[in-house]
Amino acid sequence: MRTTARLGIMGGTFDPVHFGHLVTAEEALVQFNLDRVLFMPTGRPARKTDREVTSAEHRYLMTVIATAANPDFDVSRMEIDRAGLSYTVDTLVALRETYGPHTELFFITGADAVWEIVTWKDAERFKGLATFIAATRPGYDLDAAREEHAEALAALDIEFIEVPSLAISSTDIRSRVAERRPIRYLTPEAVASYIQKYRLYREDGRS
Ligand code: ATP
Ligand code: MG
Repeated sequence: MRTTARLGIMGGTFDPVHFGHLVTAEEALVQFNLDRVLFMPTGRPARKTDREVTSAEHRYLMTVIATAANPDFDVSRMEIDRAGLSYTVDTLVALRETYGPHTELFFITGADAVWEIVTWKDAERFKGLATFIAATRPGYDLDAAREEHAEALAALDIEFIEVPSLAISSTDIRSRVAERRPIRYLTPEAVASYIQKYRLYREDGRS
């Protein structure tokens, strides 16, 4: 019997959540034999201060809707209920405290996002907190990244996985909505309906 639980954490702005996030979480779940994946929408993302981010409540609810049918997926309010900017390392420390030593944490992220979260300066702080699962995205040059970030890599527990090439991004979905182009098949239908209902990502929206 296995005594240690394996918990995946999928952090993101999820503005909005899309199939790229869902496929990545599912792939990590299966490849790393995780018990569940906890989606963690950021409160005020520390790295995205340049544009107005949709209200946390909308982003949270869209993430709930998108993951509702999957018994292995959950959504956490931890970061959105915490005041101030969100830093991944603080979240991992808090999760460690919540779940205790018998839960192993796996932080799932896009390979390109890893280097924004963990600069070589603070890589040491992540050591022992969680294993990173970095999903490679379309057009990503893994070898070049390994070379460029060798210093951070040496200090981190990090594994790379390949996800089916999904060139989907929240940025593209937002501009599609603004330009009245389709987003069907890029995000679950229920999320697309939610975006339409609350007129998100439109000039005349009420988010
Ligand atoms: P934005 O375009 O606003 O930056 P995004 O599509 O990158 O949004 P985020 O919420 O920023 O979405 O991403 C959350 C996490 O999911 C990040 O670790 C990111 O690298 C990863 N991710 C985003 N899109 C994909 C995708 N298509 N395939 C795999 N991973 C993805
Ligand atoms: Mg992004």
